[in-house]
Amino acid sequence: MRKIKLHWQILIAIVLAAIAGSITGTEASFLGVTFVQIYDFVGTLFMNALRMIIVPLIMSSIIVGIANLGSGSDLGRLGGKTLLYYAFTSTLAILIGLFFVNLMAPGLAGGVPVGDQLNLTLDGDAVASAVASVEGRGSGDIVQIFLRMIPTNIVAAAAEGQMLGLIFFSLVFGFFMSQIPSKQSEALLTLWRGISETMMKITMWIMTFAPYGVFGLVAETVAATGFSAFRPMLLFFITVILALAAHTFIALPLILKYVAKVHPSRHFRAMAPAMLTAFSSASSSATLPLTMECVEKNAGVSERTTSFVLPLGATINMDGTALYECVAAIFLAQAYGLELSFVTQFTIVLVALLTSIGVAGIPAASLVAITVILTAIGLPVEAIGLLLVTDRVLDMCRSAVNIFSDSCGAVVIAKSEKETGILEGV
Ligand code: ASP
Repeated sequence: MRKIKLHWQILIAIVLAAIAGSITGTEASFLGVTFVQIYDFVGTLFMNALRMIIVPLIMSSIIVGIANLGSGSDLGRLGGKTLLYYAFTSTLAILIGLFFVNLMAPGLAGGVPVGDQLNLTLDGDAVASAVASVEGRGSGDIVQIFLRMIPTNIVAAAAEGQMLGLIFFSLVFGFFMSQIPSKQSEALLTLWRGISETMMKITMWIMTFAPYGVFGLVAETVAATGFSAFRPMLLFFITVILALAAHTFIALPLILKYVAKVHPSRHFRAMAPAMLTAFSSASSSATLPLTMECVEKNAGVSERTTSFVLPLGATINMDGTALYECVAAIFLAQAYGLELSFVTQFTIVLVALLTSIGVAGIPAASLVAITVILTAIGLPVEAIGLLLVTDRVLDMCRSAVNIFSDSCGAVVIAKSEKETGILEGV
């Protein structure tokens, strides 16, 4: 099994799980233990491992990303512009995702939630409390979201999975860490960088168990529902692909053409090797060296801009990820039959934006962020097991989009710094 690439292993696991689940159903048992209990055990173990790493992974990734902005006035200006661009394109990506998921409604079939077909069950009380957690007081709830951004106690926030507050604290911490005397700030940066790298290694290690986790989760679903999950999952898959394509082939090229005055097709050609690598590795961090080389050598951006904008982008600018998080969360909310009021959608957009900053550039990192969104809108995080089925292929696509957006950022910033020699428009 070890020699086969992870995405193939996962694919094999899905096929085997479908077979196993349909053979055993919910009744079959072995030594008094039903197979469904075994599937559930394996799946839950994997999900727990993913949830275990949320807090340190997101915190360290944000702190290191922001601290890297530096404190010099020159870097400060470049940093400001870069952050603005990143926030803008990520928001744009999320809104494109929001548009497509509302248009295609993969979580509904003929207007009816597909929760049953997906084996997602929530009793009446739970739905009511989920609804109450985000609605009820109308626009006052938006105020609540902002209030929650500043927690009274960060330890409690971390323990309760209130990531919004933790993300805010990490942003502030990362910023002020770079404002203290360099002896201390360097020591802190080394520490946090070490934590961040360790967390990435742990995530990669957990992902080596993904085939087993996926097997457990898929087999459990198939045993309970048969193959009725197929159609909604396919529709969800298509929705994500269409939205990613709209962002990559329409929105970003428009920015390239009208803001950076660069010919989009030439930029695509310049970035092709990096995009293909991101696609096959599903990791923007692993692709970073190649992204930097393509932006510098092929797109002609200066080393100064490249080395500042891209490493920062690899951690905090994730358009594909932000878009995916939004589509996935709304899909699950639709499937559960949660009414998607303005407040709920606003919550999803905001949390998707904030968590995409904290998602590490490694495979499957979005899953961790989606659990944060689900908690924010009051849905059970178990639903995420379902997303694992399509996750790897979508991960490959969104990682390529992530690094493409970073590279567009480098070109836009280089242009604004009056650099010459970038692919001129024709
Ligand atoms: N794999 C993505 C990346 O590295 C992150 C994610 O969306 O899971 O860019």
